[in-house]
Amino acid sequence: MTGSHVQTVLERIYATEAPELADVEAVLRITDGDELGRLFDFANEVRRWFVGDGVLLRRIVEFSNVCRNTCQYCGLNRGNDRLQRYRLTKEEILAAVGNIRAAGIKTVVLQSGEEDDLDADWLREIVEEIKSSRDAAVTLCVGERRREEYRLWKEAGADRYLLKIETSDPGLYGQLHAGMSFENRRRCLRDLAELGYQTGSGDLVGLKGQTLRHLAGDVQFFKQGNFDMISISPFIPHPQTPLAEEPAGDLLMTLKMTALARIVSRDAHIPATTALGSLHGRDERPKVLAAGANVIMPNFTPASYRRHYEIYPNKRCVNEDARACPACLEQMVGAMGRWVDYARGDSLKRSLKCEVGSLK
Ligand code: SF4
Repeated sequence: MTGSHVQTVLERIYATEAPELADVEAVLRITDGDELGRLFDFANEVRRWFVGDGVLLRRIVEFSNVCRNTCQYCGLNRGNDRLQRYRLTKEEILAAVGNIRAAGIKTVVLQSGEEDDLDADWLREIVEEIKSSRDAAVTLCVGERRREEYRLWKEAGADRYLLKIETSDPGLYGQLHAGMSFENRRRCLRDLAELGYQTGSGDLVGLKGQTLRHLAGDVQFFKQGNFDMISISPFIPHPQTPLAEEPAGDLLMTLKMTALARIVSRDAHIPATTALGSLHGRDERPKVLAAGANVIMPNFTPASYRRHYEIYPNKRCVNEDARACPACLEQMVGAMGRWVDYARGDSLKRSLKCEVGSLK
């Protein structure tokens, strides 16, 4: 593509309610430096216009690494018998959340593997406790659950829910998720949106068998879903998984997907994921922030457990003192002429109605 052609295609993708797969694929094929510059500048401009220069902090507490699933790319899969499993107590979770609030951060993500034994009432009590005494927005990320459980936690005060689709292609999804149902995942996303959660989804870039057409389909999925949050991470192979020998996802492709997610979603919150702080041993998050992202999600799991939440190896900041995070992040973000935003960072969609229900 020539520079002006790139601009035309980007404007077309931005303006339409239904981006053409061919247009998105053409953008994903870009390798020329000037054309990439146009793509990232375009996405950055959309980001600046719709969400501003602040970079929101979401603090994560990974409260359990127990999981019933066998996702082929994930080190927490139940077949990994080398992993030491843990689950924090209610008191440990609330203490971690207290530390987050003491650091001036008003949003907390409670994340775990998909546990068979997760007691819905136990989690409800934790959500209620946080909401009653700690004035924080609560995001849950505990996988596919029954609608009644989602409702219970919403009524307890949970604000948001993250459930990545990982890939929007049913065939590829089936290859990577033995025993799981693509339709059930979409049902969960519909339920969450209908119950009033600020809903997040996202994908993995570089999965075995993934094509540009699949990734273009993911961009369409993000547009149709009208998600409040979109998370895009590179695949990083874990030695205790069936994909151990596969190459890691490509940084440039992840940046292009982030830029396209920004262009189609406009005002969604998009993180520079922790995986991008860990790819090839470098911290690539500044590049993602410059390609349309506006959120960073540092880890606040107690240090003694953090290394056991190993979705992928060599995770960033596993050994660091979490209290050092704000200064480190402020330096990184400040060097880009932006600033760390300690607000709750609620959805910027005018209506919280998510249109996942309209997905075909
Ligand atoms: S991706 Fe989630 S559901 Fe799948 S194995 Fe890992 S923790 Fe479990």
